[in-house]
Amino acid sequence: MSLKGTGHGALPPLLDQYVKLRDEYAEYILLFQVGDFFEAFGEDAERLSKLLNITLTHKSSKDFDTPMSGIPIRAAETHIERLLKLGYRVAVAEQTEEAGNGKALVERQVTQLITPGTVQSEEILRGEENFLAAIASLDGYALALLSVSTGEFKCCTLSSRLSLYEELAKYRPAEVLLAPELAGNAAFATEFAARFAVMRSSASFDPQDCERVLAVQFGSIPAVLNTESLRRACGAVVAYASRVADTPRLGGVTHVLRFDPGATMHLGETAACALELFEPLHPNAPKDATLFGALNRTRTAAGRRRLRAWLRAPLLDVSAICERLDAVETLHSDGPTRAAVRANLHRSHDLERLQARIGSGRATARDLNALLRTLEAVPELLEALQAAQPRLLRDIAARLDALPEVRERIKAALTDDPPLKLTEGGLIRDGFDAELDAHRRAGFDNRNWIAALEASERERSGIPVKIGFNSVFGYYLEVTNAHRDRVPGDYRAVATLKDRQRYTRADLRDKEREILLSDTGAQRREYEVFAALRADLVQYTERLQLLGVALAELDVLASLAEVAAERGYVKPSFAGETHVLEARHAVVEGALKDAGNAFVPNDLYITPQRRFTVLTGPNMSGKSTYLRQSALLSVMAQIGSFVPARSAQLRVHDRIYTRIGASDDLAGGSSTFMVEMKELARILHGATPNSLVILDEIGRGTSTLDGLAIALAASEFLIQQRASVLFATHYLELTRLEGEHPGVVNLHVAAQEEAQQGLRFYHQVMPGPASRSYGVQVARLAGLPPGVVERADALLHALQQGNERSSAVVAHELAALDLSRLTPVAALGVLETWQRRLRGE
Ligand code: ADP
Repeated sequence: MSLKGTGHGALPPLLDQYVKLRDEYAEYILLFQVGDFFEAFGEDAERLSKLLNITLTHKSSKDFDTPMSGIPIRAAETHIERLLKLGYRVAVAEQTEEAGNGKALVERQVTQLITPGTVQSEEILRGEENFLAAIASLDGYALALLSVSTGEFKCCTLSSRLSLYEELAKYRPAEVLLAPELAGNAAFATEFAARFAVMRSSASFDPQDCERVLAVQFGSIPAVLNTESLRRACGAVVAYASRVADTPRLGGVTHVLRFDPGATMHLGETAACALELFEPLHPNAPKDATLFGALNRTRTAAGRRRLRAWLRAPLLDVSAICERLDAVETLHSDGPTRAAVRANLHRSHDLERLQARIGSGRATARDLNALLRTLEAVPELLEALQAAQPRLLRDIAARLDALPEVRERIKAALTDDPPLKLTEGGLIRDGFDAELDAHRRAGFDNRNWIAALEASERERSGIPVKIGFNSVFGYYLEVTNAHRDRVPGDYRAVATLKDRQRYTRADLRDKEREILLSDTGAQRREYEVFAALRADLVQYTERLQLLGVALAELDVLASLAEVAAERGYVKPSFAGETHVLEARHAVVEGALKDAGNAFVPNDLYITPQRRFTVLTGPNMSGKSTYLRQSALLSVMAQIGSFVPARSAQLRVHDRIYTRIGASDDLAGGSSTFMVEMKELARILHGATPNSLVILDEIGRGTSTLDGLAIALAASEFLIQQRASVLFATHYLELTRLEGEHPGVVNLHVAAQEEAQQGLRFYHQVMPGPASRSYGVQVARLAGLPPGVVERADALLHALQQGNERSSAVVAHELAALDLSRLTPVAALGVLETWQRRLRGE
């Protein structure tokens, strides 16, 4: 218990109080209320000032001086948000008694804990998902994922560290609880910290504690939690979240779902990034230049989160995929139904979040009103879906529970436009509660009495008496100095102003007291009535949750149908071979269209005869786009979306691997190569005959020969694995594979040199290998000075002509080389020259 500062003697009482709370909440940044500010002192003040970029001052007393920094309470929300984003936990200590009632030091208590993984404030979450995770281990791993703000709670077991990491990468939890066996395992902890820059918090994973917590949460321990590590992971998250929320039980969490990560497509973080599923690769690209952006026409925040979840985990089961596709098809072909569904969804609110707030007793009157509007949209949604045939739509319709009794209750009790604050009145309708009505009537009558007083006093006294009100004196009678002499005798002066006098009277005081009583009585009663209504709704949380999920699913299906209609997508079918006619890239096509350009469609085949495609062609011709679009087709189809093509028959891929060189890789040459090789290693270890592997150049980070050798060896391996591979490369040597192995085919992207414009790109994928690499032409396009381009062209010709002679020249030079005088660097240079010569570059 100490505080950074200078001086001697005991800490002043305020700082002493601060230090005690700070030590009690050592894992948190303590925001300590002092009047209108949240303050921090000592080293915490320095930290806060650095993190939030706020001024650092000093708190000085007679014999102690310490750094101090503070944020105004009215701006606290943004600062807290910042701290959470930076991965800190925040404890808010508020003054819990009025200042100035004679005491030197007011009482302060920690009233709120806010952590990255449990935060519920919509200002901070903005509708996005947010998970708290816990990991326990005992041969394999158990992962629990809890979204406190929606009540979604799920768990799974994973056999390897790699699959654990992949699952974590999918959900990107904001905060992770590691069981002691993992936190205490130095190798694991280091590797984990290197991979995930996330808040790690401590929690109890004690088996008995965890089981007790689960029993309290669910009434009994859910049967799906059939291993101790699952119970420990699930118990730990629930215990932690309850402690932070300061409740014995998480009201919004009604059940835990156990999922099988193997039942969905395995799409590593590398692939998700390379395919730009959620974030564009280029920092300057528009935020929605992603697959998510291309498909997102959802109308609710819950729908948006659900679309993300679907994209994160495309399905493998063809019948489940087709159920979604059939639903999309109906909504796609039936425009009026789609429009009605979307319009009604637009009226509805984020039910998953609403139900969690109701369940945990935090709902405001506005939340209940939002719930009402959402429930009111349900009958119309049901009507819109009435004739729908597909199973999934019928199933959703069956889950569209309009909860009429909830609707009636809210409607009967709540005013149409209740205020945000629950304590200021105006929440409950007249006529709903007799006691409230009595308070209101009394207040109304007394106010009327006062209003009538002005007229009656004027008549009685014959002078222009006015009734006024201010917060200091309450109601008063006011008379200007001109009439002062004629003021009735029962008036008692309370204030003298320059030109007028204010008075009161005993009966006016009485009425005022009565008004105050009835007002506070009404407010108290209103809050009671509201709280009772809110508590009464807790019994519906489970049904509301089910409805929330149904609405979210419907929103995604309608969104996919809308995009399909807007962009002319088609319904894919599934079979053992992939035959896609005129496929497009969902995102690039959109961007080109917005700029008034057409996208050139290309076919895609993956068959036993064309399992491994070697794609060549100049830079900028569209190789990379073709590769990515092919992978995106599978992701889209397997989440149940239509696809951008003229017709599409696809095989189901269990995994998609990508190895795509970032063009603007900032890392140094060797580490880029290392990253590349690690990715390649993962692919070669993981690829199955059902996997789709996208390789966009490999081996660029090393010498040409090494790179080529690795590319060839990896290709041979993948050919043997019978994986589906699309390989874009500069190495024309790879085109030889076609003759050497069955299933390998060469394609190239067409480009042509034209007299006037130089190189022209057609973005058309054609049979056969590219005849040459067009490097010099691309260099011209890029704006190299004409002199340099001409010289390069001449050199190229000379080199090509000299090709036949070059072997002889190389042999000759090799014989003449004095190895004892050659440095390794010079040797590499010579090697490279020879290699170029032999390759005719
Ligand atoms: P590469 O991988 O061959 O260097 P990219 O795939 O990166 O080429 O494509 C280069 C540019 O060409 C892209 O920015 C894209 O806008 C455009 N492009 C690619 N494919 C097509 C296509 N099929 N139709 C129209 N434009 C395309």
